[in-house]
Amino acid sequence: MSRIVYVNGEYLPEEEARVSVFDRGFLFADGVYEVTSVLGGKLIDFDGHMKRLRRSLGELDMPAPEALDDLLEIHRELVARNGIEEGLIYLQVTRGAPADRDFAFPGADVKPTLVLFTQSKRGLADNPQAATGIKVISIEDIRWGRRDIKTVQLLPSSLGKMMAKKAGADDAWMVEDGQVTEGTSNNAYIVKGGKIITRQLGNEILHGITRAAVLRFAREAQMVVEERAFTIAEAHEADEAFITSASTFVLPVVSIDGQAVGTGKPGPVAARLREIYLDESRKAGV
Ligand code: PMP
Repeated sequence: MSRIVYVNGEYLPEEEARVSVFDRGFLFADGVYEVTSVLGGKLIDFDGHMKRLRRSLGELDMPAPEALDDLLEIHRELVARNGIEEGLIYLQVTRGAPADRDFAFPGADVKPTLVLFTQSKRGLADNPQAATGIKVISIEDIRWGRRDIKTVQLLPSSLGKMMAKKAGADDAWMVEDGQVTEGTSNNAYIVKGGKIITRQLGNEILHGITRAAVLRFAREAQMVVEERAFTIAEAHEADEAFITSASTFVLPVVSIDGQAVGTGKPGPVAARLREIYLDESRKAGV
């Protein structure tokens, strides 16, 4: 059965959905996006994702789509029309499609492009990797300097995932000036002596919406959180490691560059945070 997607005000079967060849998202990667998970048919951390979307648009001086205030309704409509119980909703905004290709931004007559689509993923919460953990490799972070903006420039991350795959691992942690920035599509954490350590916010990493929620829950549960950079060597000496993102929630990392982290098995802190995050998010879903 074909999916119903949203393109610039219309709900269409995916085969009928169209974006111009002059769209700046296609020509310049001049676009931003958001990914919101769905559990039990409800949107998780929706307000956080929409807040970050507004920030990404603002940082790039990109006009907001006219439907900005209707995004909750559009997300819900796509969940309903596609019967999504568990899965992800992708929202893409670009600076639109001017008449000709030109590096300079188009005038106000060119409206931004807004596309939303769903990906059904049964078993999103029941991910077997929560029990086994994932393996990561470390790679150089070759991305641009504004990783706090969630742009569609995902080629370095895509290349990183392929390097991980070739090495028999699940993902890659990116390293800049000797310190871990983040995973290819997630934030990175280590646990040492009960302390949760993750890189501080800045232009070097995406300000994960799941990160914000997980750190809040950790502090509410009296866990100690230290927001600072760490090295791969420090991660090798850690008791535990894990990642967070809207599509994985909290997932344990059991090996880095082929070397076991802690016992080489998923640790209790990651398991507890995953449980709290899933419980609280389900309760707060909209
Ligand atoms: N960092 C990067 C580079 C990402 O692509 C993502 C996922 N979009 C994250 C972190 C995690 O962010 P969030 O928790 O908002 O999904």
